[in-house]
Amino acid sequence: MRRTTGRNFLFVPGPTNIPDRVQRAMIVAMEDHRSSRFPDLSTSVLSDLKKVFKTDDGQAFIFPSSGTGAWEAALTNTLSPGDKVLASSFGQFSHLWIDMAQRLGFDVVVQEVEWGEGVPLEWTEEVLRADPKHEIKAVLACHNETATGVTSDIAGLRRVMDAAGHPALLCVDAVSSLASIDFRMDEWRVDLAVSGSQKGLMLPAGLGILAVSPKALEATKTAQSKRCYFDLADMIAANASGYFPYTPALPMLYGLREALDIIFEEGLEEIFSRHHYLAEGVRAAATEGWGLSLCAKEPKWYSDTVSAVMVPEGINGAHVIDVAFRRYNLALGAGLSKVAGKVFRIGHLGDLNELMLMGAIAGAEMAMLDVGAEVRPGSGVAAASNYWRKHDPVPKRRVSKEEQFYEAHSTGSVQG
Ligand SMILES: *Cc1c(COP(=O)(O)O)cnc(C)c1O
Repeated sequence: MRRTTGRNFLFVPGPTNIPDRVQRAMIVAMEDHRSSRFPDLSTSVLSDLKKVFKTDDGQAFIFPSSGTGAWEAALTNTLSPGDKVLASSFGQFSHLWIDMAQRLGFDVVVQEVEWGEGVPLEWTEEVLRADPKHEIKAVLACHNETATGVTSDIAGLRRVMDAAGHPALLCVDAVSSLASIDFRMDEWRVDLAVSGSQKGLMLPAGLGILAVSPKALEATKTAQSKRCYFDLADMIAANASGYFPYTPALPMLYGLREALDIIFEEGLEEIFSRHHYLAEGVRAAATEGWGLSLCAKEPKWYSDTVSAVMVPEGINGAHVIDVAFRRYNLALGAGLSKVAGKVFRIGHLGDLNELMLMGAIAGAEMAMLDVGAEVRPGSGVAAASNYWRKHDPVPKRRVSKEEQFYEAHSTGSVQG
């Protein structure tokens, strides 16, 4: 029988844990979304979302959908049927965006990449160089492939697009990276950045979030794809005065307001550092502790938001996940598609700290032992503990001699 006492330990890489503050902020009575007060909320979240994408030039959009809706909005608003788009497939999510693009009638040039690697920069550059007529209208890239725990180099992708002198739109899936792994929309000149509410933004699923560059906004004017619910033109017209073209998901917007406050209180850079530090502890548990490999083939691909741990030979990852859930009330991420049964995933993004992750590591270890895996009891926890005790969540700020002097001689209310 499934255990139901105590907390459910939620370690799937989305939906993630919701901070109590966000949960409370969403308990609201319904109100008129056409009131004179409503634009205060909508304009504040739309403009603050831009800071999370690191864009001044772009515009943020919120749809009552999941991330998949924002994928569709990105494609249908900027492309015409038959348009050529370039994409690489290396996990379930990169695959699904390609599948959507094909079903929407675009001509997708696909590179199949081994699962465990990410966007192939050289191949992309070669294909773009071989397209002097600029028939390719967009390059799709999955920044963080949640199925394999692989992060791709979007700055590098921008470099090769520039090197090839190619004007295609750069469309990036940032669903499981936004607000957890550094994402720089303006600096990388990303044209369409897709996200959702239930990962780094620490909300329930229910908002599709999209940031659009001026160049992509220009492309919407000539794009011929059929669209209605996700039409940016309707959204732009309504958002201009702080409203939506249809009923917004009101409690989600209040939750988003609170989540953004929490994000800015911690600081984006501090959040990225914390995610890296927590991820390193999980990786130490998996590799040094249990002696297992990650699905990500090399450290350069390691994701700071999710790790896909390869189970030992002869063990079924699905059994580990099932035992973890039924016996220990721990939700681990399943192996999807090609890696079904071969991995379990530990999501380490959102509102998390070391000891919460210790629960996931200990539980995964117990479940592995229960199904007969030969891992040493306590080895994962010990390796993570060694890493976390020796490192700082946020690298210490370098303080100048002068600052040290003033801190030491401060007459303020500093207590020992
Ligand atoms: C979760 C996720 C999605 C899909 O988002 P939904 O909200 O489930 O529609 C897309 N891409 C990536 C990389 C994801 O992690």
